Amino acid sequence: MIVIPLGVSSATPTAVRHLPSVALWRDGNVYLFDCGENAQMRLLQAGIKRSKVDTIFISHMDGDHIFGLFGLLSTLQLQRRDKPLSIIGPVGLKKMIDGVMSVTELTIEFDINYTEIKKDFEHQVVLEEEEFYVEARPLKHTTFCIGYRLQEKDKPGKVDAQKAQEAGITEDAHFKALKAGDDVTLEDGTVVHSADIVGDPRPGESFVYVTDTEFCENAVRLAENATILYHEATFGEPLKEKAEDTGHSSAQDAAIVAKTAKVDRLVIGHFSARYSNQFLLLKEARGVFEKTWLAYELRPIFTNPTQEKDIITPRVEIIDLKDKRAQRPKKEFKPASGTRKPGFKKKRFKRKPANARYYKGNDSDKPQRPRYNKPYKKDDADRSQSSPHRPSKPLPITPRTPFDDFDRF
Ligand SMILES: [Zn+2]
Repeated sequence: MIVIPLGVSSATPTAVRHLPSVALWRDGNVYLFDCGENAQMRLLQAGIKRSKVDTIFISHMDGDHIFGLFGLLSTLQLQRRDKPLSIIGPVGLKKMIDGVMSVTELTIEFDINYTEIKKDFEHQVVLEEEEFYVEARPLKHTTFCIGYRLQEKDKPGKVDAQKAQEAGITEDAHFKALKAGDDVTLEDGTVVHSADIVGDPRPGESFVYVTDTEFCENAVRLAENATILYHEATFGEPLKEKAEDTGHSSAQDAAIVAKTAKVDRLVIGHFSARYSNQFLLLKEARGVFEKTWLAYELRPIFTNPTQEKDIITPRVEIIDLKDKRAQRPKKEFKPASGTRKPGFKKKRFKRKPANARYYKGNDSDKPQRPRYNKPYKKDDADRSQSSPHRPSKPLPITPRTPFDDFDRF
């Protein structure tokens, strides 16, 4: 499995973080967990075809987690998708999507299979496939919110080739039968037992998505022994009270869930816009649970890097805007002082005479001062491009500051 965070912000996007969405690649199919604004563009930038999306899981109906859904559906329609799409989430999903489609007069021609989860549920298997299933449990947020676990079924053990040869197994059909757990009777009447040739079944991998919740028991139940737990960490411990008031977790809460559930790897995301340095949250979580990673947009997380390495390659360069060194243009090589190139002449600057600033001459060849308040004319456009007074670099985008208003969560 490959987990690709598409947006790791909470509530409001920042200059460098997008709204919540996580893509999960498994055996050629893509599963989306939440679909915040920009999810479809982030999919593209992550190097994932939008047509590969098979099922979308929605945690709850807050706008920041679902507003990307309409744009994605519209794109899929324009791409003339013909295979069905499944959308799983809280009750009311179909009504909302139908409402938007009818107002915007968009007709979706492919089938959408809805699975709506009712508010009073305790546990539900929402998707059952041949090789995996997805279960859901309610979480503890200010609105009805659902956590998901995608669990691969156990894989059959490996066939011991040497033992099989010794037992006289040569046909492919016999190998398959043994792998499936069936005993095989050879032509001479010998019975070869599957248990003697095939090793123990290998446990399947699992991905757990827990977002927008206070610390709760269901989060631990979902995450039990998971391969990857993606857990929200909206706040740091100093804002614990705010986290409780708004139905969110601190980084430490996420780590406690991971530790209690004995997961292999915790990935924290869904950061409040106030944290321009999310490493504060990582440090806090690692204090409790060492095997914690930060969710980093478009950076894939592999459950098996040796097999999954080059399957998904981001189409954009991932640059941490906070890392000033990464952005600095590389300096050209300059030889050290004393090793001058042949023909190199040191520039000499002549000092201007003291009276140089006073213009001495007649008015006709006096240089013209640039005029600033000149009325704009169409043919001035080209000239203004080359004006020395125009800033050559675009102004930087101002990132969020702690002084912005963050009361809406
Ligand atoms: Zn949220």
